[in-house]
Amino acid sequence: MPDPSSSPTPSAPEAAVDHAFGFETRMLHAGHVPDPQTGARAVPIYQTTSYVFDSADEAAHLFELKQYGNIYTRINNPTTAAFEERVASLENATGALATASGMAAEFTVMMTLLEPGDEVVASAHLYGGTRTMFVHTLRKMGVTVHFVDPTNLDAWQAALTPQTRALYGETIGNPQGSVLDISRVAAIADAHGVPLIIDNTFCTPYLCRPIDHGAHIVVHSATKFMGGHGTSIGGVIVDGGTFDFSDYPTIADPSPAYHDLAFAETFGEYGFLMKARAETLRDTGASISPFNAFLLLQGLETLSVRMERHVANAQAVAEYLEAHPQVDWVAYPGLPSSPYHALAEQYTPRGPGAIFSFGLSPGPDGPRATGKQFIEALELFSHLANVGDARSLVIHPASTTHQQLSAAELEESGVGPEMVRLSVGLETLDDLLWDLDRAFHAIRS
Ligand SMILES: *Cc1c(COP(=O)(O)O)cnc(C)c1O
Repeated sequence: MPDPSSSPTPSAPEAAVDHAFGFETRMLHAGHVPDPQTGARAVPIYQTTSYVFDSADEAAHLFELKQYGNIYTRINNPTTAAFEERVASLENATGALATASGMAAEFTVMMTLLEPGDEVVASAHLYGGTRTMFVHTLRKMGVTVHFVDPTNLDAWQAALTPQTRALYGETIGNPQGSVLDISRVAAIADAHGVPLIIDNTFCTPYLCRPIDHGAHIVVHSATKFMGGHGTSIGGVIVDGGTFDFSDYPTIADPSPAYHDLAFAETFGEYGFLMKARAETLRDTGASISPFNAFLLLQGLETLSVRMERHVANAQAVAEYLEAHPQVDWVAYPGLPSSPYHALAEQYTPRGPGAIFSFGLSPGPDGPRATGKQFIEALELFSHLANVGDARSLVIHPASTTHQQLSAAELEESGVGPEMVRLSVGLETLDDLLWDLDRAFHAIRS
């Protein structure tokens, strides 16, 4: 019988000869065979800091990267490796590297690729934390990020300079609900000889696989739908193996931080991830704990089933809201009224995720007060700052995450005082609509 744990992608040679396993099978099996010593069927939690070397020679080879194996859990761990291989398989990629959080995944990519003086062109429709890191923390490293309207391909092109070393975007931007035209942006990256990095958190590989559309590197906040239960912070970097790093300075040149190792030449399509692991993760220490990797594996095993229900509930809630007289607009690309509907059908045929924003018609006390009253009247939707939980979540950005901003700044960031953001969970649909209905009643009276 072919072994689904060892066929990372349908195009892997052993799978092509034998049988290509489907997405759901790889969700459950990729990256793991039953533990030979104990027979354990689930991936065990290897809660250990370090690993005994077989010999002094083996130890030396591991440190020189002449042999691949476990040294210290800051760099690698068998539980984490199962999670990494499984995500790589689901994204149709050559490899992956797990990190302590989604932010750590993004930062690790940037630290591995960039040098002072380098520039990045990024979508302006980004997760707030990403934007802050790009503007402030990357600037401290001498890196400049130019933000462009992601829907304007000419703007991507116009922002390129000889110093541009990467393009960056999200599969679906929030709060606009904009779907990125990945293959067109990837073509711009290819023509300029730089990688396109995509944050695929909102879709997960079940709804969209950016590498299949030409993206080169994918990052995730595994904290969200991948883990899926709101219990664990984690991140992961995925390399499609599709970008040729042999002329890309930081990956191709001899690295003084690793006794002049040339990562691209030595490791071929694994060069970028090897440098990210052996150098960046070694130095920043932003590693995931084996226990969190285990919890994220539990999430992956039910990913397709959960995402189907998330999307079905989100579509129904969006349709309910769009028809509601107390709602001015709904920004869900699953609705034909969305300007991104055609792109959503192209890139996310199984549905464009379960996170979206809508605008309340302001009551007599103005839009900000109406938003607050609406949130306070909800019972089933939890009011908190997260997305991608199994439970339904809600936030009113103008009175929470964006409350320091002036009216002008709110408008510039696309966050109006009337805006409410939902992350639709897995509850009974009728109960979600019941809860929303009650909140609309409360702001009417
Ligand atoms: C949450 C999130 C992040 C950051 O991930 P953490 O795991 O919270 O560090 C990055 N991108 C997107 C789209 C997110 O939703």
